[in-house]
Amino acid sequence: MDFELSEEQQRLHDTVFAFAKKEWEPRTLEIDASHRFPAWLWARMRELGWCGLMVPAEYGGTGLGLLDTCIMIQAATQAGGDIGSCLAWGTHLSIGTIPIVLCGSEAQKKKYLPRIASGEWMSCFCLTEPGVGSNAAGVELKAERRGDHYVLNGTKTFITNASVADVGIVIATTDKSKRAAGVSAFIVDMKSPGITVSAPFDKIGNRGSETCEVGFADTLVPVENRLLNEGDGFMQVGVKTLEYERTCLTAIWTGNIGYNIALSVKYAGERQQFGNPILLYAQIRDRIAQMQIDYDISKLMMYRAASKKDSGTPAPLEATEYKVFTGQASVRSALEAIQIHGGYGLMTEYKVERSLRDAKLGQIGAGTEQMLLELITRLVTGTRSKTI
Ligand SMILES: Cc1cc2nc3c(=O)[nH]c(=O)nc-3n(C[C@H](O)[C@H](O)[C@H](O)COP(=O)(O)OP(=O)(O)OC[C@H]3O[C@@H](n4cnc5c(N)ncnc54)[C@H](O)[C@@H]3O)c2cc1C
Repeated sequence: MDFELSEEQQRLHDTVFAFAKKEWEPRTLEIDASHRFPAWLWARMRELGWCGLMVPAEYGGTGLGLLDTCIMIQAATQAGGDIGSCLAWGTHLSIGTIPIVLCGSEAQKKKYLPRIASGEWMSCFCLTEPGVGSNAAGVELKAERRGDHYVLNGTKTFITNASVADVGIVIATTDKSKRAAGVSAFIVDMKSPGITVSAPFDKIGNRGSETCEVGFADTLVPVENRLLNEGDGFMQVGVKTLEYERTCLTAIWTGNIGYNIALSVKYAGERQQFGNPILLYAQIRDRIAQMQIDYDISKLMMYRAASKKDSGTPAPLEATEYKVFTGQASVRSALEAIQIHGGYGLMTEYKVERSLRDAKLGQIGAGTEQMLLELITRLVTGTRSKTI
């Protein structure tokens, strides 16, 4: 068991950290106020070659594993890159792309992956609907087969990147009577006729990512754009993608805990009360220690879940535990950081108030905390809750 990053992993971390600290962190107030994903950031990501991290090299990507990708994502928010923009990037890297990498046919991979990996096409993942959240297997968006096409009708909501995406992975029902076994997944050109995307929603946080409703009205999708077979959308595509999503996107919140610590240590070292920097007072020191413990646990859980997955072994328990712990720890660390900053912590320019606003999604998106706790108990005991 080796807890050290390899030289190459350390280099990946340091490269992203340096970029985010120099170019991204200084613009986070502006990004947060804009409620938009910054086009300049995507342009820089493209120049840096960071749009296809987990796409195999033969399709134009970087061919990195899940752990390497997590390390890069974590470095971005650790350096102060905002959680919202990082969520847009992470969504593209993981749930917008991985279904094609893992489940796409050769023709689908050749058609979509090179342009996704170069960043020419941005991607999104469309599962949630106005009436279907945690009960994800119950999707109601219909895909009806008509000759060489499917006709899509219905509404998706809370879709990250919908307003900026060119390609979407859309989860739809092809046979409602079969529930989860009747769900199919499609690669959809988001500019297709019949697709309407709402203006981005106003949100408490995560404002550097755009979250929208997407309507489908008689949208034609060629049969060759279906991933795997009819009925594989939930049990195959969804399940295979899920652990990538949980681990990859949670790395965003792990990094933010590190950022909260850095901001708190800096502030506490500068702020003088009663004749000393407040950093020298025990109650402040205890809080920093607790944040550091949370940060280290979260990083170790990330390493464990991602490296297990990279070794080819499913890691549902590890990925789920990692997400639940980090969702809680991220909220905790943002609250502690604000407390250490006193009244200044509530002021936008000190940036820790945004950490709190951005943290909450970690307990809701990609499976709410309650759903994931149930899943953990299910995996550990082999029993099912009466309600879920
Ligand atoms: C900023 C943002 C970005 C998002 N991005 C995407 C995206 O890109 N793609 C996408 O498809 N989705 C996305 N989502 C949707 C997200 O995954 C869902 O919000 C999440 O899965 C929860 O669904 P819901 O909001 O409908 O809550 P609900 O499922 O309605 O849950 C409401 C509450 O009830 C609880 N609950 C539900 N059922 C039970 C039960 N049986 N027993 C006990 N408690 C229960 C839940 O835990 C929760 O506390 C995003 C959401 C947000 C806010």
